[in-house]
Amino acid sequence: MFFKTIDFSKYSSIKIGQPTEVLMLELNDMIPSDRYLIGGANNLLISPTPPLLMMLSKDFATIEQEDDMLIIGAAMPTGRILSYAKKHDITGFEFCSKLPGTLGGMLAMNAGVKAYEVFNILHSIKIKGEWRKIQDIEHGYRFAKLGGIATHAKFKIKKGFDQALLGNLLNLRTNQPREPSAGSAFKNPKNDYAGRLIESIGLKGKRRGDMQWSEIHANFLVNLGNGSFEDAKYLIDLAKETILKECGVVLQEEIKLL
Ligand SMILES: Cc1cc2nc3c(=O)[nH]c(=O)nc-3n(C[C@H](O)[C@H](O)[C@H](O)COP(=O)(O)OP(=O)(O)OC[C@H]3O[C@@H](n4cnc5c(N)ncnc54)[C@H](O)[C@@H]3O)c2cc1C
Repeated sequence: MFFKTIDFSKYSSIKIGQPTEVLMLELNDMIPSDRYLIGGANNLLISPTPPLLMMLSKDFATIEQEDDMLIIGAAMPTGRILSYAKKHDITGFEFCSKLPGTLGGMLAMNAGVKAYEVFNILHSIKIKGEWRKIQDIEHGYRFAKLGGIATHAKFKIKKGFDQALLGNLLNLRTNQPREPSAGSAFKNPKNDYAGRLIESIGLKGKRRGDMQWSEIHANFLVNLGNGSFEDAKYLIDLAKETILKECGVVLQEEIKLL
């Protein structure tokens, strides 16, 4: 293991944070229990006082075929998984297009687009050195109880990369804000949309400092330049409290605040 200084104002997708020492884990390292693991920081909001952090090094950015299985390391970026699937004519990973992050982040969040979620195509996950079948892991909409750090995952290979599906999924993304964000700030409540609720209370486009509830997609908290953690947190709390008061709905953050 070794330390690396990561500047979260550049590394995180929402471009908020400061240079921070992160412990980089190598292949046979013991995983410390007093540190929070991050992946590509596409779903994170880093405060000025984050917990101690760690990250899987490139030792875990691997992808290999073993019989009819694809074994992928948890530090593998989604874009590279998609390219590999395309090159080897494998289907199932088309939804990874424009879903930024690493495999580890996808597993922890059960990330997905519409009906396509990573748990739909998974076979098993290696957690604390043990392979666990997905039937034994509680998971649902944007959550999975992994119970530890995932280092690898296995997917049964299915041939036939679906170029048309990829095209459709890319089209869905044309209405997404272009400014830095961490994707959807809140999970959608049952039978409703967080974006609709934010719009209904008049917060679509609401700005504080350089942070704003996007004018294009109300559930995206965007950074217009020099956005700060405090301004992002203010807008998140404002939306949560107002929606509870006016709509009686408890919203749950999809973004992890550290
Ligand atoms: C523009 C944009 C669009 C997005 N669109 C979508 C979308 O359509 N659908 C969607 O689901 N998400 C979306 N997201 C959110 C993000 O892409 C996903 O949540 C992604 O899976 C995060 O991966 P990451 O590696 O960046 O994880 P991070 O943000 O670094 O971490 C997210 C969580 O995963 C945990 N984690 C990371 N690696 C591991 C590991 N190896 N083992 C255990 N836990 C781990 C972390 O502890 C943290 O709790 C979007 C984000 C952006 C910026």
